[in-house]
Amino acid sequence: MKTIRSIKTMQRTARQAVAEGKSIALVPTMGFLHEGHLSLIGRAKKEADIVIVSIFVNPAQFGPREDLSRYPRDEKGDLKKIRAAGGDIAFLPKPRDVYPHGFQSWVTVEKLTQTLEGASRPRHFKGVTTVVAKLFNITRPDVVVFGMKDYQQAAVLRQMTGDLGYPIRFIVAPTVREPDGLAMSSRNRYFSDSQRAEAVCLYRALKSAKEMVKAGERQVSKIKREMIRAIKASCPGAEIDYIAFTDLKTLKPAREIVKETVCSLAVTVHQVRLIDNMRLL
Ligand code: AMP
Repeated sequence: MKTIRSIKTMQRTARQAVAEGKSIALVPTMGFLHEGHLSLIGRAKKEADIVIVSIFVNPAQFGPREDLSRYPRDEKGDLKKIRAAGGDIAFLPKPRDVYPHGFQSWVTVEKLTQTLEGASRPRHFKGVTTVVAKLFNITRPDVVVFGMKDYQQAAVLRQMTGDLGYPIRFIVAPTVREPDGLAMSSRNRYFSDSQRAEAVCLYRALKSAKEMVKAGERQVSKIKREMIRAIKASCPGAEIDYIAFTDLKTLKPAREIVKETVCSLAVTVHQVRLIDNMRLL
């Protein structure tokens, strides 16, 4: 496995691979890798000859009061994990190279970014789309793999890929969970053991929603009420940012649950903002 830090070297390496007729898969990450990330690498390996895993804690997607400076990092551990998972190239560009002095060119997706995470984190997606467009330009992937865990992000980036005409196949892989159901996330690392036990409230709420739908309920308002109850029961201090029922691709709100409806939620548990989602049918 190669570790590349220079954008120029990454560009040269990707160009060479393309010239040799090799296909490239890209898995963008912010590092502090867990089984969720590794599952994306595993999927990418099935799809292309060369798997590039990028690690970049992107300053542009963090708001002023968010956790950029304390976002967990473990470069050595990450490189080991990428190697063990069969990644071919770890690409770790530096912030000053990604955003050189005087940087002023941004990529924005207009509509899909207005709701859910976009409503709570105003400049977040502008940072995400810009950095991912740059990663696409630098690494020239044939395939990219993102996680369903960040389902709006996947929808936004799929839109950008189509709108800007990138010839890239777009894969969204399932969410990998801890044994108790908590979605794996680098941010889980912020919790003490007792706080960690409460963080499962998002999954519990989603499960209770799924149970209701299984029993025949289709009304969003009733399901939402039950989810709020489930969250308060297992985590009294939780602050619910949103619980939403939206269409998988358009992100338009659903009034009744149908096959394409995704239930997503953002909840702050002991000062850590967590997101999760689930298809209910
Ligand atoms: P991050 O490092 O959090 O920016 O995530 C990098 C990629 O991994 C994104 O495509 C995420 O959606 C994906 N990802 C994060 N957590 C999980 C998980 N638990 N299961 C599957 N994919 C995940």
